[in-house]
Amino acid sequence: MRIVVKSKRIPKRLEEEVRKVLKHYFPEIDCVSLYYTGSAYGKYLRDWKIAINPVLLKKPKRVLYHTVAHELTHLIQWQQEKIRPKALKTEYSFLYAQRIPKGEKACEIWTYARHPDLVAPSYYLGLKPKKLPNSIKSWCTAMEFYEEHSFEIHNLAKKAIEMRRQGFRSYIKWFLNKLNSIFE
Ligand SMILES: [Zn+2]
Repeated sequence: MRIVVKSKRIPKRLEEEVRKVLKHYFPEIDCVSLYYTGSAYGKYLRDWKIAINPVLLKKPKRVLYHTVAHELTHLIQWQQEKIRPKALKTEYSFLYAQRIPKGEKACEIWTYARHPDLVAPSYYLGLKPKKLPNSIKSWCTAMEFYEEHSFEIHNLAKKAIEMRRQGFRSYIKWFLNKLNSIFE
């Protein structure tokens, strides 16, 4: 596992965090080039390249880990044929049971299904936690809520992937309904 840092604007501390995510949760990926972005938390560039915003160092670790994992999952969406043989020998082989679909929602499901540590609020899933009173619908509170339910959300995502494997086409809809019901 190797990281090639491609920008001087990537602090050493951020490089170390990306290394940790790769080492602990993405054993099937051998090498990633790390670029800087200031316009989003993270971006998948192409091939084996991701860009991360150093502002994430000031956010809760769960958000940093989720963002890095989300971009690495995009990388997998596009490079899966190259890493599948290795991935099938790891504890994450269940994520590769079938061809991994493209798209942001699928990306979140595959990220959540990988590990509870990688579960954090997602912009792409468009959830509105009803349980949270308006006054405290702050981002921090949403964070705590996701943290509290991270195992449950992780298991739902795993189940959605298994359902897709069994031929259930509406697995994303099913996942979002279940996730919404946690928040109600
Ligand atoms: Zn994305």
